[in-house]
Amino acid sequence: MTSRHLVYLGLGTNLGDRLNNLERARILIQERIGPVRIQSSVYQTEPWGLKDQPEFYNQVLLLETGLAPPEVILDVILHIEKEMGRIRHLKWDRRLIDIDILFFDREVLQLDRLTIPHPLMEKRNFVLAPLAEIAPDFLHPVLEKTIRELAQTSTDLLKAEILAS
Ligand code: ADP
Ligand code: MG
Repeated sequence: MTSRHLVYLGLGTNLGDRLNNLERARILIQERIGPVRIQSSVYQTEPWGLKDQPEFYNQVLLLETGLAPPEVILDVILHIEKEMGRIRHLKWDRRLIDIDILFFDREVLQLDRLTIPHPLMEKRNFVLAPLAEIAPDFLHPVLEKTIRELAQTSTDLLKAEILAS
């Protein structure tokens, strides 16, 4: 039997039909990476980094996958982003879909093109808020704090609220 891994992915979009972008990405992720076990609510968040752009919708997914190592997952993700028509402009600029690997089990990985856990998550409410909803007790393997603690002590002042339905 192939071994299973637990992966947390962070999704973000601030262009076009944002709910549809999240849904489409989720379907492609399920088909190509593995079943979604838990999904957070959708959060509406103020743009981090470059300010002068539309608000984002963000969501975090917990998946089970037989894919490994995580570089393989990165390749699948980059392919989905491309297929969904993401055009890279500036770093942190507006985007149709951004998919980041937040955690891969409790592995720590530092490669040129892939850092896990995803860097700066402790400074980003748009990651911490949805992650705290579905995984408050998950222990960050580098910072050795739970997501709940990181969310409570975040110094990020930007808004991240559950999208009113
Ligand atoms: P950001 O997500 O920081 O706004 P981009 O999505 O434009 O910026 O950056 C994409 C690049 O980030 C990818 O090509 C990939 O090589 C690199 N990267 C490093 N670590 C990760 C990770 N944990 N998840 C996704 N991409 C990562
Ligand atoms: Mg990214």
